[in-house]
Amino acid sequence: MTAPVTRFAPSPTGRLHLGHALAARVARDLAKDAGGRFLLRFEDIDHTRVRPEFYLEIEEDLRWLGLDWDGPALRQSDRGDAYAAALDRLRGQGSVYPCFCTRREIEEEVARMTGAPHGPEGALYPGTCRRLSQAERKSRLAAGAQPAWRLDALRASKIGGPLTFTDLRHGVHPVDPALLGDVILARKDIGTSYHLAVVVDDAFQQVTHVTRGEDLLPSTHVHRLLQALLGLPEPLYLHHELVTDEHGVRLAKRHDALSIRTMRESGLGPADVLGRLPRA
Ligand code: GLU
Repeated sequence: MTAPVTRFAPSPTGRLHLGHALAARVARDLAKDAGGRFLLRFEDIDHTRVRPEFYLEIEEDLRWLGLDWDGPALRQSDRGDAYAAALDRLRGQGSVYPCFCTRREIEEEVARMTGAPHGPEGALYPGTCRRLSQAERKSRLAAGAQPAWRLDALRASKIGGPLTFTDLRHGVHPVDPALLGDVILARKDIGTSYHLAVVVDDAFQQVTHVTRGEDLLPSTHVHRLLQALLGLPEPLYLHHELVTDEHGVRLAKRHDALSIRTMRESGLGPADVLGRLPRA
């Protein structure tokens, strides 16, 4: 059995909070307790939301917490070519299609439909552009329309075949390829997406155990399917519980009082901060 490789993958769009500290500690412990490697990756594909000062702040906070990582951090903003190559492969298979809809058009279509498909986070894409003819697609592309690229969940699941993923806490899950519907794999403005970039990079970094909050469990269905389509290795998963505030609400940027920086500035030490995390 080879030593585990894990990663912590924050977005430099805000401060680290207790939820991030838990995610980093879970990943660090899983790797280090077994003599493996713990990596850091900045998920910074969305240049509209990245704030440059957070790269350094995140690294400083992790070091202050004693959650040091191995090797230099990977930045997804340097990896555009790899995502483009993966998208090309999916295009060649016919497991993605171009989508020309605006957000407004999608909302209107969902409102018009009876029985619009829904997923764990609300309405799913109603499939409008999946039904375009090849000729229609060609003429829109030739006219210069810049599409997003969506997973054709049903076609892709036929290519990928029946799949499962294994979570160390939750056991074996059959993949439901339709759970998130025809999700966007490449946004119009950035040419990729969280789903595509994560799958490509976890393989590139040879991550053996993907650890992250259980809010991302639905995404794992898409990720496992993409691994099969792209011929990438299957990692094990560990979806850990989330840190919540006193009202049971998942931590977000607005919880500045629970940011690592604020706690640190208020005089708490690393052991006090880590001591507030659930045992997970
Ligand atoms: N960038 C994601 C987050 O901050 C992490 C996703 C993942 O670990 O796959 O929630």
